[in-house]
Amino acid sequence: MNKGMILSKLPSVEEILNQEEILKLLKTIPRSVVLDKIRFYINDYRCSILSMKEDPQFEISQFIKEELIQSIVEASIDYMQMNLREVINATGVVLHTNLGRALLSDEIKNEVWSVASGYSTLEININTGKRGSRYSHVVEILKRITGAEDALVVNNNAAAVLLVLGTMTKNKEVIISRGELVEIGGSFRVPEVMSQSGARLIEIGTTNKTHLWDYQNAVSENTGAFLKVHTSNYRILGFTKVVALKELVALGKKTEIPVIEDLGSGVLIDLQKYGLTYEPTVQDSVRAGVDVITFSGDKLLGGPQAGIIVGRKKYIEEMKKNPLTRALRIDKLTMAALEATLKLYLDEASVVNRIPTLRMITEGKTSIEERAKELHSRLLALKIDIDIAIKDDYSQVGGGSLPLEELPTKVLAIKSRKISSAGLEEKLRRGKIPIITRIQEDQIILDLRTIKERDYIIICEAFRASFS
Ligand SMILES: *Cc1c(COP(=O)(O)O)cnc(C)c1O
Repeated sequence: MNKGMILSKLPSVEEILNQEEILKLLKTIPRSVVLDKIRFYINDYRCSILSMKEDPQFEISQFIKEELIQSIVEASIDYMQMNLREVINATGVVLHTNLGRALLSDEIKNEVWSVASGYSTLEININTGKRGSRYSHVVEILKRITGAEDALVVNNNAAAVLLVLGTMTKNKEVIISRGELVEIGGSFRVPEVMSQSGARLIEIGTTNKTHLWDYQNAVSENTGAFLKVHTSNYRILGFTKVVALKELVALGKKTEIPVIEDLGSGVLIDLQKYGLTYEPTVQDSVRAGVDVITFSGDKLLGGPQAGIIVGRKKYIEEMKKNPLTRALRIDKLTMAALEATLKLYLDEASVVNRIPTLRMITEGKTSIEERAKELHSRLLALKIDIDIAIKDDYSQVGGGSLPLEELPTKVLAIKSRKISSAGLEEKLRRGKIPIITRIQEDQIILDLRTIKERDYIIICEAFRASFS
């Protein structure tokens, strides 16, 4: 049959619209979306026929029509799916920045949703009926947990650093050790944030060693602050020297220069109790006498994205008056999630089990092994063509926190004779609920540390679908 004849037999948009499957689809998917997909696939078909070198040896059969409809249905449903949606993190990296860092606790669902879907006390003082402050909701609890005089919360920690420097050290010199000129992923670089804030960077010491006299010698009439930055995502090991916070605070007192610390991870409990490496807590810095401390809400604190500032009242008061605060202000959803997360910290004994990030980084190998066995037997029960072994491995904390910590874990190492590991990795990643895995020695690795019990069914279903 010649091309022209075939093209003339292609179904029209009208014809497709009246097919039973499409009518059914239109009950849930907007007509404009379905129409787009119909036009796209008819045109796609037309182009593929036109691009054939010779006249094709077939007719437009019922079979081709069905194929066309199938593509339209799938593409329409796919289009309506949320782009930003849940995935299963099988990488074992607990604070995976690309997968959204900290997970909020299930326990705080109601608190967040009621503020999101209803009017709230965001900026009203219920006792007086007068205008209130959006920050007031978390100030008391932050003071209580950290021991600081006052607190303020902005969008993220990068914003917090910008606001602190922009308020306290604009057009002034800020003294910082060369060993602490940190770059965090996503192009947050301490020197660049400083120049944005209008502060002038005075680098002192060397990459591996900075002494108290380096700070002392750099002090001038124009010094605005000493800045300490926690080297949260790297360590300098070997022949090193850093100045202890206490010594720097003492120098600050003597010279009347404030000490600012960017702590990064925002740990509020002593992780050593759970067998992890010491990570400086916010409380330690407050106790050491640091004037202003900033940290993230969604790293080891385990809350929503936020930048928390705690410290001396006189400085925080100045920050509140800075117009930047308005530009960097946090949303009510974040505020609700942060307040509810912080409340979990009031019961120290249970917080580690109630905040997912803390629960995941402190879960022991025995418990992970139990779960590995469970998922192992469920996958075996599928009777698909894979070999599965339970292996020892290490998970990472991630999110630029505890960079050297290797958390002993158990993983499932999976290999198939039917599908390549790269192929299987892709199938799992592109499923309805994406499963993010990694490949190691040509095997698919599922680290149980970051896999929840409720993920097992989804994982099994994805494996079954990949092999059907
Ligand atoms: C992570 C980090 C930041 C950036 O924090 P965000 O909340 O991601 O903006 C800044 N400083 C340090 C030391 C960090 O570890």
